[in-house]
Amino acid sequence: MPDTTLFQWGLLTELLESYTIASNTVNTAEISQDVISTAFIESVTLTQILGNSSQKEVYTIKANSPISKTTITEEGNILKLLINNAYINTAAYNLSGILAGEFSGVYHAIENNSELSFKLSSTDIKYAIDLSEDKYTMTVTLYPNYVNTIAAGRKNGEEFVAITAMEDISVTLTESGNYLMLQLPFTVNGVGNNNTESSSLEGVKAVSVTGINDYTTNITIEKSEAYTYRVDRNKNTYTVFLTKSFDSGNSGETETNTENALQFKLPEGVTFSDITTEDRYRYYQNKIAILLPGDQTQFYDENPVTVSAGVVQDVTVSYVGNQTEIVIVTSKLQGFKLSETNNGVSVKLGDPRDIYQNIVLLDPGHGGNAAGATRTLKGVKIMEKDLNQQILYNLAKEYFNAPDSPVKVYYTRYGDEVRYSNTTTENYDRAAQAKRIGADLYVSLHMNSNTKTSPVGTEVYYNSKNNKANGSGLTSKRLGEMLQTALVQNLGTVNRGVKDKSLIVTRENSVPAVLIELGFMSNPQELALLNDPVFQEKAAKTIYDTICQVFEEYPTGR
Ligand SMILES: [Zn+2]
Repeated sequence: MPDTTLFQWGLLTELLESYTIASNTVNTAEISQDVISTAFIESVTLTQILGNSSQKEVYTIKANSPISKTTITEEGNILKLLINNAYINTAAYNLSGILAGEFSGVYHAIENNSELSFKLSSTDIKYAIDLSEDKYTMTVTLYPNYVNTIAAGRKNGEEFVAITAMEDISVTLTESGNYLMLQLPFTVNGVGNNNTESSSLEGVKAVSVTGINDYTTNITIEKSEAYTYRVDRNKNTYTVFLTKSFDSGNSGETETNTENALQFKLPEGVTFSDITTEDRYRYYQNKIAILLPGDQTQFYDENPVTVSAGVVQDVTVSYVGNQTEIVIVTSKLQGFKLSETNNGVSVKLGDPRDIYQNIVLLDPGHGGNAAGATRTLKGVKIMEKDLNQQILYNLAKEYFNAPDSPVKVYYTRYGDEVRYSNTTTENYDRAAQAKRIGADLYVSLHMNSNTKTSPVGTEVYYNSKNNKANGSGLTSKRLGEMLQTALVQNLGTVNRGVKDKSLIVTRENSVPAVLIELGFMSNPQELALLNDPVFQEKAAKTIYDTICQVFEEYPTGR
């Protein structure tokens, strides 16, 4: 089939001007004018401008005399204005912007300058800073990201839907049956609300885009059942490729052989019980590793792994660190089950819910550039992200992955990593993962902190907006109560109770979801406890035991 572009939606003409302004906006470095008299900053107000042609937020800073030299810097997602010879009442205002969630002003008396900070919702937000002619008014204009084009067609034997944006693109993809739902936060739909059904493509059945008057673009792709998808992300372009499963038949037969998806022989001296497995599920890369002792690469050159399921895209065999790895790449997340045959090993693949009776998604809070709370213990810097990872991943996974574990575990992060540099986007994505992988429960682990050193103890959060009983009668609150009771009992920490709190990961979840605040890093004694390997091990085991108990009391019925 020849390469073709079936359709391309481009930027709406009425948006062109505002897009051009936004894309030409350079990060203004400085406003340089020296004024000796101190300017009193009287107000900072927000004007939300929402409309097809000019979506932006304008923050107006009004002073009672001309504004002096201003230095503008960006630290992560904090936009800072340092205004010389200016006084601002030290305050934090909630101006309820969308592009900048928080604004605060601090006056430094010695330098006689004021520091104004805007917390941007995403690092992709552009800004322009202007001074009025009379120099009394400074405006900070924030511009969102824009979707410029959406195109669909065929290329190199694959079908595609490609989305381009003005800045680096952030997409959350949720799969539901044959629908792929893409959400782009803080991104204006520049191409207008569109909907098309395609007759000349086979894999892409329909594409629709909505979200014209706000800062989120939603794109839905309806695909044919016989097609699997993969995603390619490159800076400001996000492409969904659709490929026909090779065994999906042409007589309407679309069933894949998942029962016996792969088979491989075992080399001499290697028994079935020597085999270990690992999920290498990272975001949208779906990999499963089967590990055998020793270097068996030559054996598998002579006795290749046989594949009989369309969901398998690639199989590689390599020798890594004293082990042989058989890595299976699948087009979507697959649960797996190995069984011994008289000829070697058979691997069953399938939707995780078809393979596993009980599935939990564990979320070690923060990661990567987000350290969470940090405190010093005996001269050593302790970071919350590391404590969360040590307990929930390094220690707890040994229990969950043990041969007799009744619970399959997936993680929101496997190492010290985040997918999105913006914390809000990251947390929305972590909450969405529960549905994406088919988890039954979601448990996030964090460490608390306070400006005072006195608070101590354990508390668990759930959110009443996500507290409906699931099919087995379990609610988020009940999950929280079971964890809270077991943790304070086994760890001897102060019981601060189970609390209703609106957090992204608990509120935006689709399954019973809780967030544990295990203890306070701001209390020196409790920090030492949280850092103690014996305490950490007890916490990991308690979380594992409690989750097993939850599934016993509230069976999934699978
Ligand atoms: Zn935290």
